Amino acid sequence: LPGPDLLCPQAVDIARLLPTPGAESDKYRRGVLAVRAGSDQYRGAAVLCVGGALRTGVGMVRYGGGEDVLAQVLSRWPETVGLHLDPLDGTDPGPGRVSAVVVGSGRGTHSANADELRALLESECPVLLDADALTLVAGSDPLTELVQRREAQTLLTPHAGELSRLLPDTDRAEIEAHRLEHAVRAAELYRSTVLLKGSTTVIAHPGAPTVVNPTGTPLLATAGSGDVLSGVAGSLLAAGLPAQDAAMCAAYLHGRAAELARDGAPISASDLLDGLPLAIAEVL
Ligand code: AMP
Ligand code: MG
Repeated sequence: LPGPDLLCPQAVDIARLLPTPGAESDKYRRGVLAVRAGSDQYRGAAVLCVGGALRTGVGMVRYGGGEDVLAQVLSRWPETVGLHLDPLDGTDPGPGRVSAVVVGSGRGTHSANADELRALLESECPVLLDADALTLVAGSDPLTELVQRREAQTLLTPHAGELSRLLPDTDRAEIEAHRLEHAVRAAELYRSTVLLKGSTTVIAHPGAPTVVNPTGTPLLATAGSGDVLSGVAGSLLAAGLPAQDAAMCAAYLHGRAAELARDGAPISASDLLDGLPLAIAEVL
């Protein structure tokens, strides 16, 4: 399948790109990731996203959210730096010294979430948009224009249903039938890197060859696995990787984590967090 416009990365390609801390490294240089995923209703999305980031080697996670979700994140991952945000107030004082932000999954689509998203898109920070953040962008011309005009790294991680909302005149079945073409179309329309999830994950970037991810298993089709992926990719964005490289490494490691976590037996999304160290150790 891979031709001149397609790229299928191997373990050595991933190893070359993965950040490895040197003696002079510190937590800020390794990257500080702000997570704006999950909500009091969807606490698991927050826990899984933060876990994915921590297991990929980010220097620090700053989590902002409502009281209940914040308590859950801190009890599972006490190393997280927490910030209490009122879910009805979309003004985020800003997480301070951060190098990337993940926003969207399980966050909700009410107006406070749109306000939060607008502020993040107006910042010059690398941003990963997933799930509800993609739905908000798809339903709003001003948010769409903000994405299109951004100069900072911007990574969109839709599944086929989410991508069909982002593109005019298409539906889920059409996306599934022509995954590569629609990922490229979306990357050009939004002037962003697009990681299209599904049975074969593809990564498109305007003017660049499209990446076809070689790892993964249908066992990944389970609730929460996309939330882990967003944390993995967010960690790599925070470490300073360009969105294309972060997406390629994240998809590869996430797929391998699924294959390795339980030796091919069914996995839950939480198991991916145990598979990630195996996947990273194998590649390095
Ligand atoms: P989400 O749709 O956000 O829950 O993310 C699901 C994750 O599982 C993504 O990383 C998909 O690429 C992956 N996935 C879903 N279905 C399959 C499948 N049939 N084969 C391989 N990976 C899949
Ligand atoms: Mg999802």
